[in-house]
Amino acid sequence: MKAQIYPLRLSWPIPALTLAAALTCGPLPQAVAQAPGVVIEEWMSSDQHSALLQKALRLQKEGKLTRGEQLKEQLKNPQPTAVRFLPPRNTPLDPTLLAQRAREIRLWIMVLYICPKCTKWHLQDFAAAYAVAPDIIATCEHAFEEALKRETKEPLKEAYLLLRDSQHRLLGVTRIVAVNSVMDAALLQVDPPHLIPVPLNDQLSPGDPVFCYSDPLGQAGYFSDGIINRFYWNSNRRGSPGSLEQLAYLRVNFGTDWAPGSSGAPILDQCGNVAGHVSSIQPLSRPSGNPPTSSDGKNDQPPSTPATSNPPLITMHVGIPARGVLALIRDTNEQAGDPPSPPSVAPRGPDLRPRPEETTSTKP
Ligand SMILES: [Zn+2]
Repeated sequence: MKAQIYPLRLSWPIPALTLAAALTCGPLPQAVAQAPGVVIEEWMSSDQHSALLQKALRLQKEGKLTRGEQLKEQLKNPQPTAVRFLPPRNTPLDPTLLAQRAREIRLWIMVLYICPKCTKWHLQDFAAAYAVAPDIIATCEHAFEEALKRETKEPLKEAYLLLRDSQHRLLGVTRIVAVNSVMDAALLQVDPPHLIPVPLNDQLSPGDPVFCYSDPLGQAGYFSDGIINRFYWNSNRRGSPGSLEQLAYLRVNFGTDWAPGSSGAPILDQCGNVAGHVSSIQPLSRPSGNPPTSSDGKNDQPPSTPATSNPPLITMHVGIPARGVLALIRDTNEQAGDPPSPPSVAPRGPDLRPRPEETTSTKP
């Protein structure tokens, strides 16, 4: 038995919750509680959505989008390209400013496809993402890969991946730069290269404050805070210290809130750097007679996770730490023939030295 892991792609439309109505019963005060200029989050209207669909179809007609078939091929053979990432910022921001910044940098990966049922074009959000360079986005692997695989599930005539930014601008996803399913991370190239890049910070420790801005269960623009709970390995099977093979198994628990629909969203540190991204959610309960199982290293299952037939007692929010994503970027740069960046000096982050028992376990 294994603990249930919920990947966080939002795969169905969630109607406006009736709970919201329940909470607003009774006489409502006028909406004066907000400071001037504060954004009130709202659902995309059907008019806005059809305008976006028309924009996407224009890009498709102008030949500015890459066919899903081609991208699917690149899942097997990624096309590395040099990624010019930024050094981390070190000026702490007020949480109000962080919320604004998180809102500005948010990105959604969308799929444009001809529906096999109604034969009309549809445009659907699939995952969140963040820019690591003006033309490169990072996201979780499970969500966008699923978007491409839709083609095989119910053969679609045509499908394309697009990126939407906070200004509702659309960009074509043109190339799979790197994919790592063990890490649940991917780098994609978009065109035109007009994104606001966000630095990654791998010099963080448990206790450092973090923030998440995402659309959990379709709820628009939910901002939450928390701390880094811990860094950990999700498998005992890994490569040499500091290698991509090793860092693909590094995970982080964040104390921020998220749910399906948050997949790929960046988790920001106090300075607005990316501390990691949303991968999965893991409710843990007391074991009910089943012995703990060990990880197979493929599904975010840490060793000795109990079975989950009892009610959950704690819900772990599993993220992919910046250090893993940076390792993926450096590996990509190396493959693209770009000199690798120098290693971080005096890291404050998770200790990557092998534990004594691991050192001995590598002996024959
Ligand atoms: Zn349809």
